[in-house]
Amino acid sequence: MKFGTKVIHAGVEPDPSTGAIMTPIFQTSTYVQSAPGEHQGYAYARSQNPTRTVLENNLAALENGAMAICYSSGMAAMDAVLRLLSPGDEVVATNDIYGGTYRIMNQVFVKYGIKFHFVGMDSIESIAEAVNENTKMIWVETPTNPMLNIIDIAMVCEYAKTKSIQVCVDNTFASPYLQNPIDLGTDIVIHSATKYLGGHSDVVHGAVITNDIETGEKLRFIQNAVGAIPGPQDCFLIIRGIKTLHVRVQRACENARKIAEYLLTNDKVNNVYYPGFESHPNHEVAKKQMKDFGGMVSFDFKEDSLDTARTMLSATHLFALAESLGGVESLIGHPASMTHGSIPREERLKVGLTDSLIRLSVGIEDVDDLIQDLDNALAKI
Ligand SMILES: *Cc1c(COP(=O)(O)O)cnc(C)c1O
Repeated sequence: MKFGTKVIHAGVEPDPSTGAIMTPIFQTSTYVQSAPGEHQGYAYARSQNPTRTVLENNLAALENGAMAICYSSGMAAMDAVLRLLSPGDEVVATNDIYGGTYRIMNQVFVKYGIKFHFVGMDSIESIAEAVNENTKMIWVETPTNPMLNIIDIAMVCEYAKTKSIQVCVDNTFASPYLQNPIDLGTDIVIHSATKYLGGHSDVVHGAVITNDIETGEKLRFIQNAVGAIPGPQDCFLIIRGIKTLHVRVQRACENARKIAEYLLTNDKVNNVYYPGFESHPNHEVAKKQMKDFGGMVSFDFKEDSLDTARTMLSATHLFALAESLGGVESLIGHPASMTHGSIPREERLKVGLTDSLIRLSVGIEDVDDLIQDLDNALAKI
């Protein structure tokens, strides 16, 4: 089955009891047993729910994995994966990861004796420097946020195999339509389904997909023991969102390219960060491992200041000032004061995250209107 068919059909069957073509929302906490221990695979809804099962089977198919497990949020998914580790274990992670990932590692799991190293992943050398006999996991996020660097997933996995280290990829920014890390050798894929998978900014949800049944069973055990499960209504919304994933992401990619090209022509704009440009330092890697270059674009100003950014942020109308990404509507954000505000300024500047840097999550509106909105706002700078 090809991707555009999988999003609609993989793991999804009409309801056998009624023929309902859409997966029912099984709003139940328990299931009647015909005799003690005799049930139809569903005993209690923390352990299993049929709406969740459909979504999990669909996600496993989209990422070419053996198993998927869904969670109440992207962070709950990460929490479960990090619980695979034991005190004394070490993790090497991408240095410009999502702020919440940095926080759960550095402020939560560090208290349980797990050590984290944050490194640039341009080359194997910089990863290898942080690896030792205690390293159990390499944590990759690509494209990175907000600088949109691209990490070569196959290169990292090839190295990790020689050391028997598991690789976990946060695939939220690309979505399974653009990038399938398991095909490139990854053991574990994580999604904040809140973003492209849901796609309509109406639900918080997370997922883990793995091709390693043993890891999958461990994660299922952790989920049942800990309880970070999504509700059936939320699972339904993600199933529904995924049905248009390929169409939405494709349009977002087309719009993002036109917007990135437009920004280059504006003389107030300094750098435009977009992996689809041939001049982007990781363009070749992006071309190799992604189907297209994504819906995210970042840029900064020649007149680099917080004031310039503030003027821009309050001048757009279609681009709404908000956290998050991956929805049908376009969003504008300011990493220095929003998502990355807790990182010291000198550290931010080292990776190019200037005071005036703006991040766009490009939606699927008519691109002419989006460009007009940016053009009007830029005229106020
Ligand atoms: C939003 C996000 C998360 C966290 O997911 P939630 O659903 O908000 O808990 C993790 N990683 C990335 C890349 C994200 O964008």
